[in-house]
Amino acid sequence: MNDTRRKGGLSAHRRMTRQVRVGDVTIGGGAPVSVQSMTTTKTADVEGTLAQIYELAAAGADIVRCTCNEEAAAEGLAQIVPRSPVPIVADVHFHYEMALAAIVAGVDGLRINPGNLRKAHEVRIVASEAKDRGLPIRVGVNAGSLHPDLMKRYGGATAEALVESARIELELLGEVGFEDVKISVKASSVPLMIDAYRLAAETFDNPLHLGVTEAGPPPEGIVKGTAGIGTLLAEGIGDTIRYSLTADPVEEARAGRTLLESLRLRERKNVDLVACPSCGRAEVDVIEIAKAAREELGKRSIPLQVAVMGCVVNGPGEAREADLGIAAGRHRGHLFIKGRIVKVVKEDEMVEALVDEAEKLMAEGIEARLAVADAGAEEAAAEDRRSLVGEQGADPNQTGHRVELIRKSTRQD
Ligand code: SF4
Repeated sequence: MNDTRRKGGLSAHRRMTRQVRVGDVTIGGGAPVSVQSMTTTKTADVEGTLAQIYELAAAGADIVRCTCNEEAAAEGLAQIVPRSPVPIVADVHFHYEMALAAIVAGVDGLRINPGNLRKAHEVRIVASEAKDRGLPIRVGVNAGSLHPDLMKRYGGATAEALVESARIELELLGEVGFEDVKISVKASSVPLMIDAYRLAAETFDNPLHLGVTEAGPPPEGIVKGTAGIGTLLAEGIGDTIRYSLTADPVEEARAGRTLLESLRLRERKNVDLVACPSCGRAEVDVIEIAKAAREELGKRSIPLQVAVMGCVVNGPGEAREADLGIAAGRHRGHLFIKGRIVKVVKEDEMVEALVDEAEKLMAEGIEARLAVADAGAEEAAAEDRRSLVGEQGADPNQTGHRVELIRKSTRQD
């Protein structure tokens, strides 16, 4: 068994990078992987942008990026930054003056794109100003906007071309002694993005900002983002992440947070709902109950693993690792804590009972709640289990019968 498995998480084999600070968030060098997102409002709309930043922070974003594309945006940033609950990074394309204006506005970091901020002396001016203020810069290379010379030299936006673009920019920043650099080499193609980040991880010791760019709307966008970002994180690569979704950016922050919590790279903040996929044994509409439970538990800060299972035959056993769960019996729900049935409730009270018990578990702890378990609950569950197995048999999906039919149809007589 390797080290990672023994320690039960991915944190153990993270690639070591130098550290960069964006406001009060540390990136790289073993710091927790951070979640980023970007506002979709006009940055000049101070109140609208701040409202979105607060929503993003509540959904799990550690850092928020805002575009700084015009003078009015820079003026907006000057009012947004002091009132923001999280550090603000200015996103700058084409105009180095906008980077300078964002620095004056007090942002916590800059993102520049080497593909469209091309004049070396302009980049040097930005780097000198950022250095004086102690601000980090992300060199955000993007396959879709790679410098034409590199496109020509490499015959397209290859992994090598993306990394070379970052290397050239690093060198340029280094000319004025600027070293607080994060790097991203994003592409909308997942395999290309994975190759580019792997190469970047071998080439640089700077922290890497991961993302699959222009991933599209959910669910496909989330799947693509997770395929790329998750693969790299599992290899120990990546210090900060952003999902690029064509959706309310709150979805990006939620997806980022959920990915990191699932990989145990960040401490759980909210509920981890596990639910069975349902099958022929299900005694209730598992999908509806799971949805209602997620909505209710999501409104509260309950960092527990909570299970919703469609039947008592397999439910409590399959979800025995969950802190809390509910399984459907014969027109009633069986509430269980760490696999032990503690209460039987009416079917239409399942969600309410689950939420109520989750709150009590948070307040009193597992041992205290197990100590007040209903005396007859285990026996009631055993009775439902016996009755359901008796009625449906051990094979409610008639798998044995189907296998026999398939055998018959393929038999060579
Ligand atoms: S056996 Fe029960 S718990 Fe498992 S999928 Fe079917 S309904 Fe859900």
